[in-house]
Amino acid sequence: MIIIGAGPCGLSAAIECQNLGMNPLLIEKENIVSSISHYPTHQRFFSSSDRLEIGGIPFPSVERKPKRAEALAYYREVSQRKHLRINAYEKVTKVIRTEQGEFELFTADPHNNIAAYSCSYLILATGYYNHPNKLHVEGEELPHVFHYFKEAHPYFQKNVVVIGGKNSAVDATLELEKAGANVTVLYRGEDISDDVKPWILPEFRSLERKKNIQVRYDAEVTAINEHYVYFQSGEAHEKVQADFVFAMTGYHPDHAMLQRIGVQVDEKTGRPYVEDTTMETNITNIYIAGVLAAGNNANEIFIENGRHHGERIAASIKQKALLSHRDE
Ligand code: FAD
Ligand code: NAP
Repeated sequence: MIIIGAGPCGLSAAIECQNLGMNPLLIEKENIVSSISHYPTHQRFFSSSDRLEIGGIPFPSVERKPKRAEALAYYREVSQRKHLRINAYEKVTKVIRTEQGEFELFTADPHNNIAAYSCSYLILATGYYNHPNKLHVEGEELPHVFHYFKEAHPYFQKNVVVIGGKNSAVDATLELEKAGANVTVLYRGEDISDDVKPWILPEFRSLERKKNIQVRYDAEVTAINEHYVYFQSGEAHEKVQADFVFAMTGYHPDHAMLQRIGVQVDEKTGRPYVEDTTMETNITNIYIAGVLAAGNNANEIFIENGRHHGERIAASIKQKALLSHRDE
């Protein structure tokens, strides 16, 4: 059995399969929980630590809701204690289904060395964080435009535009304002989204009221250049000065990879076909774990619920093995 992706949900699936006597191999293109490693440095989770636990191993944290660094340490500890088999820094580049219904996988390491594997069961747990939602406007690829936010200090006394109106946009805005950046938020909606966590919203509202930040609603970005972000609000075409731009516009799964393998993906929602009770896709013996199952809706599956997919997958594979054993 091979699991592609060693995020929290891939790791959890590996442990659940181990618990039922299997010995899965995790193949990961960076290192374990790389998405968390790429979060903003000082990110605090919105989940309490018990809701991020996997494999039944307790996650003690300094406060009820842990910070990124505590989660990194926790998942390292779990991987070590459970003796998980992890091939890190190998990106799966191709999956082929053989005529016998097995799978052949090809990987490339950072030096482009190729390796090949075969397996009977494949679990896809590749998440979405590697594929930011693009604005598709001129200037998006300029070097001062980012889709990830790490730390605020480099933007002290700089004009910064944040695009988006959900948790990442609000979090980045709060940090940037604290570090003395001159922040303008451009959001296409009429008001900040209901998905924004209630404990960060009051601070945002207060900064907005006191005009410590500028917030423009109904603002559709149309272009970016070295000095400005251009946007349309109603009939008006406007621009705002920007030394740096954070397009916190969310992320989506790698649909192309799923489709290449033959997994059915709903065109509208980006949701791959999975049987709810087993997490098996339309392709026999290919399963999906974690946020990849949610398609384009990043606010439906997260660690809290995606960590339980492994239990269903392990039970399904075990059941199949028992049935085939009985038939022999
Ligand atoms: P991921 O964690 O994205 O893991 C996928 C892994 O697959 C990655 O390590 C990636 O490198 C690897 N991979 C991808 N493609 C390949 C390939 N071709 N070959 C090999 N490996 C590959 N969720 C919560 O429940 N609570 C929270 O408080 C919370 N806070 C968050 C804060 C921020 C800032 C963000 C951005 C997200 C937060 N989330 C939270 C969401 C959470 O991070 C995701 O739901 C979670 O990471 C999904 O886990 P996963 O294992 O499905 O995917
Ligand atoms: P998100 O929830 O998908 O929100 C993306 C935002 O960008 C939305 O406001 C969206 O507008 C806007 N947007 C998307 N495409 C756009 C486009 N082409 N042009 C203009 N605007 C566009 O993404 P996110 O905030 O990065 O969150 C991702 C995941 O991380 C979520 O699961 C979230 O809960 C999690 N997260 C958690 C924390 C935390 O724990 N503290 C912090 C940050 C993020 P609409 O509102 O109109 O759709």
